Amino acid sequence: MLDRPRQRAGDHTGLEAAALVYRRLLGQVFPYWPVLAGAVVAMAVYASTDAAFAWLMQPMLDGSFIHKDPAVIRWVPLGIVGVFVVRAIGGFFSSYGMTWIARRVIRDLREAMFRKLLRLPAGYYDTTSSGLILSKVLYDVEQVALASSSAITVLVRDTFTIVALLGLMFYKSVFLTLVFVVIAPAVALIVGFISKRFRKLARRIQSSMGDVSHITEEALEGNRVIKIFGGQRYEEAQFEKANEYNRRQQMKLTATQSFSTPFIQLLVAIAFAIIVYLATLPDMVAKITVGTFASFITAMVLLMQPVRRLTQVNAVIQQGIAAAQSVFAFVDLHEEQDQGTQTLARVRGDVEFRDVSFAYAEGKGEVLKDIRLHIQPGQTVAFVGRSGAGKSTLVSLLPRFYEVTRGDIVIDGHSIRAIRLDSLRQQIALVSQHVTLFNDTIMHNIAYGGLGETSEADVIKAAEAAHAMEFIRKLPDGLNTIVGENGVLLSGGQRQRLAIARALLKDAPLLILDEATSALDTESERHIQAALEGLMRNRTTLVIAHRLSTIERADLIVVLDQGRIVEQGTHHELLAANGAYASLHRLQFSEPHAV
Ligand code: ADP
Repeated sequence: MLDRPRQRAGDHTGLEAAALVYRRLLGQVFPYWPVLAGAVVAMAVYASTDAAFAWLMQPMLDGSFIHKDPAVIRWVPLGIVGVFVVRAIGGFFSSYGMTWIARRVIRDLREAMFRKLLRLPAGYYDTTSSGLILSKVLYDVEQVALASSSAITVLVRDTFTIVALLGLMFYKSVFLTLVFVVIAPAVALIVGFISKRFRKLARRIQSSMGDVSHITEEALEGNRVIKIFGGQRYEEAQFEKANEYNRRQQMKLTATQSFSTPFIQLLVAIAFAIIVYLATLPDMVAKITVGTFASFITAMVLLMQPVRRLTQVNAVIQQGIAAAQSVFAFVDLHEEQDQGTQTLARVRGDVEFRDVSFAYAEGKGEVLKDIRLHIQPGQTVAFVGRSGAGKSTLVSLLPRFYEVTRGDIVIDGHSIRAIRLDSLRQQIALVSQHVTLFNDTIMHNIAYGGLGETSEADVIKAAEAAHAMEFIRKLPDGLNTIVGENGVLLSGGQRQRLAIARALLKDAPLLILDEATSALDTESERHIQAALEGLMRNRTTLVIAHRLSTIERADLIVVLDQGRIVEQGTHHELLAANGAYASLHRLQFSEPHAV
C-alpha cells in the first residue's frame, strides 16, 4: 500500500504529491541552509569560470596572435590556469557541499525511520515484511539523497555553464588530437589511482550497510523484547554508530570524486596552456587557425559533460520523488498509542481480565470472547488449550502489544490503558519460546535494556540462578563471549536459560512465560525446570504451558477453546471434573515430555 505513490508519480495527483514531497524535503534541508547557500555560491563560481574562460579567448586571439603583444602572451596562459584553479575550487565545494547536506538528510531520515521502527504497534510487524522495511531504510533514502543533490547541482550549475558557452560552439580544430595525445597517459594514471580508492571505499560502505541492515533486522525480530526490556535507547545508540560510520565513508568517497573531475580538467587546462604558449611562439603562429583552435577546446572540454548530465538528471529526480514518498509514508505511520498517564511503582501483581474480548482487525472474528479471570498476586496461571485457541493472544494483551477490543485488563486496580506504556512494561518480564538474542556478548544479552545500571555481580547472580553460569564458564570468553547472530552459537536449552537470566535480572512482578514446545534433552530440561521455578517464585505468572510438570504445579489452570474459557481450576479439580481438561490431559499430557 505504501508503495502505491511509486506507480503514480507522473500523473496529475502524482505532480501535486511531488510538490508536497519537495516542500517536505526542503524542510529537511532547511537546518543546513548556510551550507546550501555556500554550495550555490560555489556553483555560481564554477559556472562563471566557463564564461571567464570564454572571455579569455578574446585577449588571447587579439593580443597574442594578431598584435603579438609580449605581455599578453605571458599572462594569458597564466590566466587560463587561474580560471581553472578557481573552477576546481568552485566544483569541489559545490559537490562537497551538496553531498554534505544530502548525507545529513539521509542520516536524519534514517534516524527518524529507525525511531519509528521501534515504536510501531505489534500489528504492523505482523503484516509487513521485514525486507520491505529494510529496503526503505537502506535503498529508498539513498535515492532521495541522489535526487536532491544531483538535481540541484545539475540544474543550477550545468544550465548556467551551457548558456554561458553557447556562443563558442561553432568552431572546429585539428588540435584535438594533439591535446589528447599529450594528456592521455597522465589522465589514465590518475583515473587508475582514483578507481582503486573508489573500490576500497565502496567495499567499506557496503560492509557498513550490512551493519545498518543487520541492526535494523534485529530491531524488527526482537521488537517485543526490546519493548519489554526498555532496549529502545540501546538500539538507537548502536544504530547511530553504524549509520555515522557509513556517512563518513560516503564523504571520503565524495571527496575523492569531487576532487578527481576538476583535477583532470585542470590537467587538460595545463596541457592546453602549454599548447597555447607553444602555438603562439613566433614561428608557429603562421600555421595556426586561432579561432578554431580556441573554440574547439572550449566546446569539447566544457560543454560535453554538462550536456550529458542534463539529459540524465530527469530519471534521477523521478526516482528520488518516488523514494521520498515511500520514506515519508513510513515516517508518518502511527506509533503505538500511549494515552496512559499513570506511572506505577512496583505492583503487587493482582491481574484481572474483565470481560475481555479481542479481534485482530475490525470485521475479523473475535479471537477472544468475554474472558473473565482474576489472578491473585504471586499466583501461577497455566493456560492450556488446542493450538489456535487464543493463548498467545491473551497473554500479549497484558503488555498492550495489542489493544483490548472490549472489556478491560486491570493491574492492582489500575486499568492498563491508564498506565504509561513504559511504566506498564517495566512491570513485566517475558520469556518466550523463541528466544531473542542480540549479536552481542552474553553479559549484554542478559543485562539487555538495563546496561550501565547493572553490575557484573548482578548479572552473574542472575545467570547462576538461571543455571546458565555452568555453561557460560566453559565458553572461551565467559560472559564476554559474543553469541553470534541471534545466538546461533548456543543450543536451544542454553538460549532459554539466558532468557530466564534476563528475566530474573529484570525482576519484574509480572511474568509472561511461553514454554518451549520442542522437547529438550533430559539434562537441559532439568536445568530449565529448576531455573523456571526460581523465576516464577513470588511473581504473578501467566504461562502458556506445554509441560505437564508446570501445569500440575500451577495454582490455576485455565482451559481455552475457540477464544473462550471453558474450564478453570487446579489439576486435581479439573481431572476430577472429567471435562475438557481431562480429555486434553489424556490426549496431550500423558507422556512425561509431551509437546
Ligand atoms: P494459541 O496461542 O492458543 O495457539 P493464538 O493466540 O496464537 O492461539 O491464535 C488465536 C487465533 O488468532 C488463531 O485463529 C490465529 O490464527 C489468530 N491470530 C494469531 N495471531 C494473529 C495475528 N497477528 N493477526 C491475526 N490473527 C492472528
